[in-house]
Amino acid sequence: MAGHVFGRSTRGKLPKAVAGEGCYIIDADGKRYLDGSGGAAVSCLGHSDPDIRAALHDQLDRLAFAHTGFFTSDAAEDLADTLIAAAPEGIDRVYLVSGGSEAVEAALKLARQYFMEIGQPSRHRVIARRQSYHGNTLGALAAGGNAWRRAQFAPLLVETSHISPCYEYRDRAPGESGEAYGQRVADELEAELQRLGPETVMAFVAEPVVGATMGAVPAVPGYLRRIRQICDRHGILLILDEVMCGMGRTGHLFACAEDGVAPDMITIAKGLGAGYQPIGALLTSAEIYDAIDAGSGFFQHGHTYMGHAMAAAGAGAVLRAIHDRGLLERVQVMGQTLDAALHDRFGQHPHVGDIRGRGLFRGLELVADRESKAPFDPARKIHARIKAAAMQAGLICYPMGGTIDGQRGDHILLAPPFIISDDQVQELTDKLARAVSDALAA
Ligand code: PMP
Repeated sequence: MAGHVFGRSTRGKLPKAVAGEGCYIIDADGKRYLDGSGGAAVSCLGHSDPDIRAALHDQLDRLAFAHTGFFTSDAAEDLADTLIAAAPEGIDRVYLVSGGSEAVEAALKLARQYFMEIGQPSRHRVIARRQSYHGNTLGALAAGGNAWRRAQFAPLLVETSHISPCYEYRDRAPGESGEAYGQRVADELEAELQRLGPETVMAFVAEPVVGATMGAVPAVPGYLRRIRQICDRHGILLILDEVMCGMGRTGHLFACAEDGVAPDMITIAKGLGAGYQPIGALLTSAEIYDAIDAGSGFFQHGHTYMGHAMAAAGAGAVLRAIHDRGLLERVQVMGQTLDAALHDRFGQHPHVGDIRGRGLFRGLELVADRESKAPFDPARKIHARIKAAAMQAGLICYPMGGTIDGQRGDHILLAPPFIISDDQVQELTDKLARAVSDALAA
């Protein structure tokens, strides 16, 4: 609870963060923590970046906030232009919100309104995937396929279909090629559409590289292209959730660029504000927004803080830093360095079943037995032990218990700042190795 709820009784349960310096967070006792996961894949530029601080000061000195019901701002307009210029083909509108869940929520409502505007009111269903996470507000939680997060809220969630994720390590059959496996799991979308009646479905939602629930699992090549074809065949919108994997994390500003797929909508957050401001965005095609312009004239949605000038100025400065400092190329290089260091350190580890990911978005899956891939007994809470041992060792990483075959399994997500150095990669893997062995010994 501490860290989520604040009050007198929660004090002292977690270290108090008092300063940030590049890849490190410093607590009130002066202890330094290497930020190996950017919190939850947020702090892509590290902490206390002088350019972002200057941009925020500058915006604050002029104007912090003007409600988007009355005004636009340079900060919001410039940010939208930058995002659209870099986005996949067809994307040309930006809806600025305050975080990832809000972006997903907006995507779902925009999809529904779009089909109402174009005279297809029967389309309301969403298909997503098991072991996915799309946010904690009710619409986004319903789309997500994480059994544990959904369980107690089930009566509040609209019914959503969940097909298999693309999870090569566990689900590719012996002898099956990666391509054949990708087509097989993508074809589950076709089967589910037939079961529901395609004319009742509005959208398919997926993360190109699955983050929180699986630990940096990319789809196999060809999978997303097949998904795109199925969506097109039935007039279903493809919503790609890049809240975690977008904004350069994989070495491309948009992760789906690597899959060669242009979705109808993309959600982003986390790295967009890099932790300097809370911001998220829904990017959408002209076709969708034009239908709304031509119909009722406005998207029937909104939040008070959307298009916030400070948040937009911060995000604009983050994107400038990524571009001007050549950080996408750097993510590709340092991603290889991190991957090699992880294989070097954990490649033969008896309890590391898989090392995966793209760019500076990497995951390790922990198993009780490498041969059978059997997960650890959930009662051991290996992920929680690793988190605690890593904090002890001065490392922030993001271990989670996912859901494997109905059981809880454990993985570690790594998403260090794009500015991480070779020495810091070494420090990260050293500390992680210590944390894993301490956690397994306990
Ligand atoms: N989608 C994905 C893929 C995410 O990883 C997250 C956050 N972990 C969200 C949506 C929700 O974002 P937020 O926590 O900013 O609401």
